[in-house]
Amino acid sequence: MASELEPEVQGLDRSLLECSAEETAGKWLQATDLTREVNQHLAYYVPKIYCRGPNPFPQKEDMLAHQVLLGPMEWYLCGEDPELGFSKLEQTNKPSHLCGRVFKVGEPTYSCRDCAVDPTCVLCMECFLGSIHRDHRYRMTTSGGGGFCDCGDTEAWKEGPYCQKHELNTSEIEEEEDPLVHLSEDVIARTYNIFAIMFRYAVEILTWEKESELPPDLEMVEKSDTYYCMLFNDEVHTYEQVIYTLQKAVNCTQKEAIGFATTVDRDGRRSVRYGDFQYCEQAKSVIVRNTSRQTKPLKVQVMHSSIVAHQNFGLKLLSWLGSIIGYSDGLRRILCQVGLQEGPNGENSSLVDRLMLSDSKLWKGARSVYHQLFMSSLLMDLKYKKLFAVRFAKNYERLQSDYVTDDHDREFSVADLSVQIFTVPSLARMLITEENLMTIIIKTFMDHLRHRDAQGRFQFERYTALQAFKFRRVQSLILDLKYVLISKPTEWSDDLRQKFLEGFDAFLELLKCMQGMDPVTRQVGQHIEMEPEWEAAFTLQMKLTHVISMMQDWCALDEKVLIEAYKKCLAVLTQCHGGFTDGEQPVTLSICGHSVETIRYCVSKEKVSIHLPVSRLLAGLHVLVSKSEVAYKFPELLPLSELSPPMLIEHPLRCLVLCAQVHAGMWRRNGFSLVNQIYYYHNVKCRREMFDKDIVMLQTGVSMMDPNHFLMIMLSRFELHQIFSTPDYGKKISSETTHKDLVQQNNTLIEEMLYLIIMLVGERFSPGVGQVNATDEIKREIIHQLSIKPMAHSELVKSLPEDENKETGMESVIEAVAHFKKPGLTGRGMYELKPECAKEFNLYFYHFSRAEQSKAEEAQRKLKRQNKEDTALPPPVLPPFCPLFASLVNILQSDVMLLIMRTVLQWTVEHNGHVWSESMLQRVLHLIGMALQEEKQHLENVMEEHVVTFTFTQKISKPGEAPNNSPSILAMLETLQNAPYLEVHKDMIRWILKTFNAIKKIRESSSTSPVAETEGTIMEESSRDKDKAERKRKAEIARLRREKIMAQMSEMQRHFIDENKELFQQTLELDASISAVLDNSPVVSDKTLTALGPAQTRVPEQRQFVTCILCQEEQEVKVESRAMVLAAFVQRSTVLSKNRSKFIQDPEKYDPLFMHPDLSCGTHTGSCGHIMHAHCWQRYFDSVQAKEQRRQQRLRLHTSYDVENGEFLCPLCECLSNTVIPLLLPPRNIFNTLHFSDQPNLTQWIRTISQQIKALQVLRKEENTPNTALSRNLENVDELQLPEGFRPDFHPKNPYSESIKEMLTTFGTATYKVGLKVHPNEEDPRVPIMCWGSCAYTIQSIERILSDEDKPLFSPLPCRLDDCLRSLTRFAAAHWTVASLSVVQGHFCKLFASLVPGDNHGDLPCILDIDMFHLLVGLVLAFPALQCQDFSGISLGTGDLHVFHLVTMAHIIQVLLTSCTEENGMDQENASGEEELAVLALYKTLHQYTGSALKEMHSGWHLLRNVRAGIMPFLRCSALFFHYLNGVPSPPEIQASGTSHFEHLCNYLSLPNNFICLFQENKEIMKLLIESWCHNIEVKRYLEGERDAISYPRESNKLIDLPEDYSSLINQASNFSCPKSGGDKSRAPTLCLVCGTLLCSQSYCCQTELEGEDVGACTAHTYSCGSGVGIFLRVRECQVLFLAGKTKGCFYSPPYLDDYGETDQGLRRGNPLHLCRERFKKIQKLWHQHSITEEIGHAQEANQTLVGIDWQHL
Ligand SMILES: [Zn+2]
Ligand SMILES: [Zn+2]
Ligand SMILES: [Zn+2]
Ligand SMILES: [Zn+2]
Ligand SMILES: [Zn+2]
Ligand SMILES: [Zn+2]
Ligand SMILES: [Zn+2]
Repeated sequence: MASELEPEVQGLDRSLLECSAEETAGKWLQATDLTREVNQHLAYYVPKIYCRGPNPFPQKEDMLAHQVLLGPMEWYLCGEDPELGFSKLEQTNKPSHLCGRVFKVGEPTYSCRDCAVDPTCVLCMECFLGSIHRDHRYRMTTSGGGGFCDCGDTEAWKEGPYCQKHELNTSEIEEEEDPLVHLSEDVIARTYNIFAIMFRYAVEILTWEKESELPPDLEMVEKSDTYYCMLFNDEVHTYEQVIYTLQKAVNCTQKEAIGFATTVDRDGRRSVRYGDFQYCEQAKSVIVRNTSRQTKPLKVQVMHSSIVAHQNFGLKLLSWLGSIIGYSDGLRRILCQVGLQEGPNGENSSLVDRLMLSDSKLWKGARSVYHQLFMSSLLMDLKYKKLFAVRFAKNYERLQSDYVTDDHDREFSVADLSVQIFTVPSLARMLITEENLMTIIIKTFMDHLRHRDAQGRFQFERYTALQAFKFRRVQSLILDLKYVLISKPTEWSDDLRQKFLEGFDAFLELLKCMQGMDPVTRQVGQHIEMEPEWEAAFTLQMKLTHVISMMQDWCALDEKVLIEAYKKCLAVLTQCHGGFTDGEQPVTLSICGHSVETIRYCVSKEKVSIHLPVSRLLAGLHVLVSKSEVAYKFPELLPLSELSPPMLIEHPLRCLVLCAQVHAGMWRRNGFSLVNQIYYYHNVKCRREMFDKDIVMLQTGVSMMDPNHFLMIMLSRFELHQIFSTPDYGKKISSETTHKDLVQQNNTLIEEMLYLIIMLVGERFSPGVGQVNATDEIKREIIHQLSIKPMAHSELVKSLPEDENKETGMESVIEAVAHFKKPGLTGRGMYELKPECAKEFNLYFYHFSRAEQSKAEEAQRKLKRQNKEDTALPPPVLPPFCPLFASLVNILQSDVMLLIMRTVLQWTVEHNGHVWSESMLQRVLHLIGMALQEEKQHLENVMEEHVVTFTFTQKISKPGEAPNNSPSILAMLETLQNAPYLEVHKDMIRWILKTFNAIKKIRESSSTSPVAETEGTIMEESSRDKDKAERKRKAEIARLRREKIMAQMSEMQRHFIDENKELFQQTLELDASISAVLDNSPVVSDKTLTALGPAQTRVPEQRQFVTCILCQEEQEVKVESRAMVLAAFVQRSTVLSKNRSKFIQDPEKYDPLFMHPDLSCGTHTGSCGHIMHAHCWQRYFDSVQAKEQRRQQRLRLHTSYDVENGEFLCPLCECLSNTVIPLLLPPRNIFNTLHFSDQPNLTQWIRTISQQIKALQVLRKEENTPNTALSRNLENVDELQLPEGFRPDFHPKNPYSESIKEMLTTFGTATYKVGLKVHPNEEDPRVPIMCWGSCAYTIQSIERILSDEDKPLFSPLPCRLDDCLRSLTRFAAAHWTVASLSVVQGHFCKLFASLVPGDNHGDLPCILDIDMFHLLVGLVLAFPALQCQDFSGISLGTGDLHVFHLVTMAHIIQVLLTSCTEENGMDQENASGEEELAVLALYKTLHQYTGSALKEMHSGWHLLRNVRAGIMPFLRCSALFFHYLNGVPSPPEIQASGTSHFEHLCNYLSLPNNFICLFQENKEIMKLLIESWCHNIEVKRYLEGERDAISYPRESNKLIDLPEDYSSLINQASNFSCPKSGGDKSRAPTLCLVCGTLLCSQSYCCQTELEGEDVGACTAHTYSCGSGVGIFLRVRECQVLFLAGKTKGCFYSPPYLDDYGETDQGLRRGNPLHLCRERFKKIQKLWHQHSITEEIGHAQEANQTLVGIDWQHL
């Protein structure tokens, strides 16, 4: 690209660069017609700079535009060099006290919940951190882009409007001075001129609609035939459609098409072809044709290049204006003036108006540029903000209509600026009074919902797609209305009153269109054919909920307004009811000597609607009236006399009856839409303005009418009137058996009706209904929620209604009613109800759902039993009603109520058939209880002379009326308390009788009232009952406990681990402990235990028995028996890697023989420790495979494991596995022929081994020469001078059974396959190396974990780890028996040669590049292959010891070379101990060999310390290795934690304590060896600083450091842009927790190809950073992501918690989040333990939806 570009730039530049900004400005200053002069300049130059080819070159264009076009303007404006001019302006400018920072997408914003006037007031991070609000309760959210920081806006904050930074500038803001006074006249005049011309130019060209013709004053002389085919954005077509179409239309690659599509989506348009008109027209027609089939076609225009050029410059110009005004408030003011100045065409002709009004015609990019300019100019200037607000309000209707028909998201519409204007209280108030904004918004909204039914109500049924689309968009107007109302007036002017009431009128019109919408009629006979539409109406209701509440709040603030609103609302309701009683003859109802007239209406037969917003608004206003003083002081001002109680209650009652009938199953045929509607009617999102208000309306009605009349109407609406007016209904029904269903139905209706009466009397916690305040209300809600169960903060918040500020008011009261319990490592913090609050529990709390009610009942009864109390749940004591509602309580003692109670009790006493139900009785008992509580309250609070008119006790003591002379209610209760079938309710009946007596006593003491004598019997009864109850209770407890245990057991069996990890671990330890115990048992009397060498502690042979988890058979582990195997999982690992940039490039050619000390490509083996027969496992695996294949064919589903890759789940614990390890006895015991005779010393041994190696090499050479291969005989061998006792033709017999051999091969091959990611090949010479490597790597990783956790080396390991390491080590040691002897010998030779150089071994790594522990393991495990042919008497143990010593010495040299630096300030006297002198001497030798390149050291003490620290991990790993290899128990000292155990380790490993002795004992040979090591060229390069080397001890890898405050992560991510699409914000910034890289995840731009598939940035990253495994934090979602391979992944709970101990996945709640170190450690531990893949497996098994996610696209 660069080469093509350069000549072009140069060719152009010459003519353009000659143009001097200063000169041009000079010319302009002289000009008489400046506009013409400037236009000519632009007409000439703009097309020369912009749009010169198919692709834009933004940098070049910007550079030239600045030089040629903007430069002159700046010169002109300043009248001097702009650099000087602007800085002068800046100095005289008084910086703004408004922050006004415009938010980027994803930037964190903060809102103070204590001080923000409304939730839209936000601060940027910088301002927030410098404000007082950081110590308040705040919310943090991420911006969706647009909007700006409100710091400095005094109207946005109740307190602390300025941060520290902006406070500095507020000294004299009081007088609002004109910012122009700081500018000179000249500057003002010139600025005005140039701004006017440029702003007009930009508006003109951006709104220009012609495609090939420029405005006359910009037209060029000669016009080229160069056009663009411009593609525009729409929200209809998908990315894929656009990409596909473009590939076809303009013949581009997919990559280019993606690029085009991305730009179109971001900027709103992009040219996709450049050329002559014809050429572009052709592309256009292809695109249009291809996209017009289903939907409207993509918008494409063929535009002349010069128009595009001018438009591009127009945008540039607007941004330039935005930045210029940043220098000075004065300039900003001038720009505002220019923008708002009315043009020649009068109304709406200002530039600002013109831009706004063509908003929906502009493309995205142009819109956002001018919106930004508005925000930084008009909205930052207090005076012009007001003027702009007026323009905005005047155009409101047009703008909204444009928005509704436009298809772009709201954030790209100018209509979205409403939030910036309407939420400013003073502006909102001004717009209401002066522009009648409320009315305008509501009317505009109504205008868009024209579809009505015959009664003029909204009708959403049969909406077309377009109407539905419009409906969705028009909802944003409700939001505007909410903004306008959100801050409530503190003072009312007459104007405001008048305009508010006008708006209220409009609002009532709106509600009127909703009253009775979506009516339903009960379906009988057959099921409805189509579910009717219901969601739209509820959406509307839900969106309006807060507005309705706010309307009431406004009314509550001014009595005059309240009274007017009340009258208006009543009038509208009366209109709605017009024709309500028309035509029909009323019916007369009568019971108990009362009669009432009512209309003929039946819910189950006629239309009924859930939507009654007008009634409900009136109910709300009525409560406000009741709360105010007017109602009592000037009742004549209210239209109370016009109220007709039967009319008020009619519709709400129908609605409640509908709910009851649905519950009784009468509306089953009406389908789910009705069930859903009723659900939402009660739901926390709606209930405040639906269900709650219906209850209030009924309460209002009852309090204004004769309660008997009310109850009769209610009975009639419930269609139960007949039942209660027929004396013998019970008997009649029980004799008939045919109507069982109908009886059931009626029972439910009776229950529902009783419940409703309980609610009407009991629900007095709204201020205005009862004498309570708002705090009492919310307290009560919380008490009842927590009565169900303890809850987390977020759960509780969700169950409470939020106000328009998203507050529930919970935090102010929660501490009074609940205790907080902190969370542990998992789970959340919980609130628990304080015990003293339990007495306020009301079983019939009206916001309980049925399920909640029964859960709460159970929980409360259980609590009472635990406290050894009786289990009655009597109604709580209630606050008194407000006077307007006071008469409501009489409903409890009304005749009809008593009749209902008596009837139900009568049925219960008779106890026959299905006539009564327990719930019915329970409710009646509750009602009786309520009445008693009421009477008691009255008696206790009565004033001296007053007579208590509430005489429930008297009434229930009287027997029933003739004709049937039933016993009194009291008498029936006494009878019932002994009824055997009422065990559950006994406590409640007893409570009633007790309370009754208590009331009687109060009455007696005040010496009135005769009550029947019953006390004696009651007392006696109760004590006898108590015994019985106690026995029963105990039996019940025992039964429950048994059941619980049974349940737990079966649960355990079913979900072994998923449910209960800890339990799982325990059981694992239990059942696996057999092996562990056996192993630790050998009693070895020796004090000092030695793990290796000729002096190795002999361990008596032990027999080991294990049980197969599949067939449950027990078997002994023996060499010759069938193989037992452990399920195992092999994976590649980079957990220990010190170099993440390194990974295996070409696995086929990779040689793993030497592990580099950076440990970059390790292979880890883990196991769940579950043991099976090899053949049992094989059978199991085959069946899994077969099942999986069938399933995949059928369902094409993924599973959590990949069978084709050999994966399966452990049949017991479902742990992900991909192979099995055979279980073996210590393999050395089999081959170790013991020779206690003289063993060679190190020098001799090395010599012998070298000779043997030489001999083998000669033999190998011969073998490889085909001619001599056949003729090879003993003679030839003799010629070789074989070392004594060495028999290379000897091949040992494999001692293992066939089955074990097979498993050795299986596991070996699996390690090879996974570790190198190659196809399995058991013959590959690298197989044994991979086995040894996995053994070494796994031991190293466990050593690291133990060391990081400060655990002693041989602390009891979890059994699964212990078993795994033992099997793995023994397997690795036995594997050579199934490999080719010569291959293993070859490996040994090479490994050996890396330390003891021989000939013929080409390029071996230098000792700096060898991980010594891997080398040790390789040498020790390969050695038997050589030793088995050696009959000279050297034992295996001797070899092990010498190998170990040799490698240890090499490691010491490694440490001395790389890791010894003297520490300053820690001077220790030189040369104190023997060891220190020795190590200093050794160092000096090294110094000499390296030709003095090694740094000089003088402190032996430091050297020794460094060496000891450096080799410690190696020694620890070696101890583990030999322990498992030889089965020597670990010395008890090392099992304890504390000191470093250096001496004990040395003893165990047969090392001298002064390990420098090793060098002295073998002086001769070591000299030679050290010299050869030091002479390696790489060592030299290192010492000369030309390369790096790992130093020791290697530090453990940790996950990256995370900040304490989550918002700093969000901030970091918001500054991150996609690395591939040039500065675009990344949509899903994701942080790798392993290396700290930020990635642009889940997006097209950053997909790359990996092994032939497109994968997202995260998956691609895991391949380099974690060899397939990754741990990420999705910053926007606050979610941890685990990935493994391409198909496996899961989300994991993030290590950030809010103050309530909860995580916030998805950042929905916005509470401040802080790092929880323990949880982060837990994630790190999962990583260190290589358990990420296992964790994903468990998550996917538990949640199948995770399996379906395309993880590779993340
Ligand atoms: Zn700010
Ligand atoms: Zn600030
Ligand atoms: Zn605050
Ligand atoms: Zn078995
Ligand atoms: Zn298992
Ligand atoms: Zn990207
Ligand atoms: Zn990484």
